[in-house]
Amino acid sequence: MIPYGRQNISDADIAEVLAVLKSDYLTQGPRVPAFEAALRAHTGVAHAIAVNSATSALHIAYLALGLGAGDEVWTSPITFVATANAALYCQAGVRFVDIDPRTYTLCLDRLEDMLAEAEASGRLPKIVAPVHLAGQSCDMSRLAALAKRYGFHVVEDASHSIGASYGDGKVGDCRYSDICVFSFHPVKIITTAEGGVATTNDAGLAQKMDLLRSHGVTRDPGLISAQDEGGWYYEQVELGFNYRMTELQAALGVSQMVRLEEFVAARHDRARVYDRELAGLPLQLPYQAEGQRSALHLYPILVTDDAPLDRRTLFDALRTAGIAVNVHYIPVYQQPYYQRVGGFSAQDCPVAEDYYARAISIPLFPDLTETDQSYVIDQLRRNLG
Ligand SMILES: *Cc1c(COP(=O)(O)O)cnc(C)c1O
Repeated sequence: MIPYGRQNISDADIAEVLAVLKSDYLTQGPRVPAFEAALRAHTGVAHAIAVNSATSALHIAYLALGLGAGDEVWTSPITFVATANAALYCQAGVRFVDIDPRTYTLCLDRLEDMLAEAEASGRLPKIVAPVHLAGQSCDMSRLAALAKRYGFHVVEDASHSIGASYGDGKVGDCRYSDICVFSFHPVKIITTAEGGVATTNDAGLAQKMDLLRSHGVTRDPGLISAQDEGGWYYEQVELGFNYRMTELQAALGVSQMVRLEEFVAARHDRARVYDRELAGLPLQLPYQAEGQRSALHLYPILVTDDAPLDRRTLFDALRTAGIAVNVHYIPVYQQPYYQRVGGFSAQDCPVAEDYYARAISIPLFPDLTETDQSYVIDQLRRNLG
């Protein structure tokens, strides 16, 4: 089977991980800070807090911003469930904002309407979490203007978009957000097996997230109350978690960061081939927003009404042909768990419903060979021609 995405592991990556196994520190050594430094250098952000997944990063990001019972997080329904779940971990509520029909990211026109209504009824969100779907950033400067006008925080779910740019900055620089989160799951742009990071320019938020990832425990003399108790002494000052990244993961991350630009460039090369070769077919191809460079985590194609077959039939035909296509994503509110939580209506998100009815993610990753890509294109032509 040709997968829709796959990690690239080099001999150098393997050597770095082996070196950790032979070293003194498997956790809480020098590699995690080195990985955080590499992420700061790449994005230009002030602080990076590495953790064991993007899900953990979202959880501590929301907590650091004070999210709790009675608050709301607003996000896109076309995302992985974790973006919304992390709000529920904090006893907060979730509302879904429909997506833009071209970029498939949070629709800012719709958001603006919802904010005006919410202001009138006194139920404004505490946090809006845009999802940079497929690797392309949401329109962050416009979102930041709305955040200022309505007084909410912004947490970017940039799980798909390390290596992407927005304007003259890198995604993750937090120029227009409080916190930005990346995932390093193997299918994403770079990997640490499992892993994630939260970036921020706010020293207070960074300190809070640093505590929350490690039990709320600290030895920082600035944070503890006792005077000179002894060399063994630490204090728990928050209720935190064990969300730490290991040295093995961080060593892999440092080694992968060296090839980040190469990975993104390889994705662009392959996407350009799809753009050209699929142009005449009854498909809506990914839209490239101006003034941005996507990390191209995914290449979602939407089956249009004039196609000779529907999404399901095309999906099954591609799977039968040995192409492990996928769908990103099922609208979160359709999940049985969210149905049980209640309060969500598909009618609120007609664009997300339409997207979900048509979308297929076709293979896109740095090691996708010319032969395999040509085969994918041939299969699409055969089915759609
Ligand atoms: C992968 C992903 C996550 C979760 O990342 P983990 O590192 O697996 O916890 C969250 N949001 C989106 C949009 C993702 O694609």
